[in-house]
Amino acid sequence: MAYVIAEPCGGCKDRSCVTACPLDCIHEGWVAGEDGKVYEQLFIDPGECIHCGLCEPECPVEAIFPEDEVPPEWRHFVRLNAAFYGATSAADGSESPVSSHVPSR
Ligand code: SF4
Ligand code: SF4
Repeated sequence: MAYVIAEPCGGCKDRSCVTACPLDCIHEGWVAGEDGKVYEQLFIDPGECIHCGLCEPECPVEAIFPEDEVPPEWRHFVRLNAAFYGATSAADGSESPVSSHVPSR
């Protein structure tokens, strides 16, 4: 199970989460959601995240949650984080495609 970055992340310049992460699984970019909104923020790669939790307390706006603790109003961010990396997520019961910028690794 991965951690997920939700709506409060935006305009953050210090990238504290990236610094805290022992792996290279947090990247910046954008995802176009099914709601027509473009989400520009940082995203966690669900295929790389080891659920260590080190990033969560470092975020100044409390945007990072364990996948199963994402607040209801932000559940779609589970899918958005996965979509950013070209993955689908069955975690929220949907595999609907969204377009995204997939970072080169
Ligand atoms: S939980 Fe750990 S591995 Fe996953 S994004 Fe946060 S710091 Fe990185
Ligand atoms: S998740 Fe938090 S610490 Fe990381 S870039 Fe976004 S606002 Fe900043």
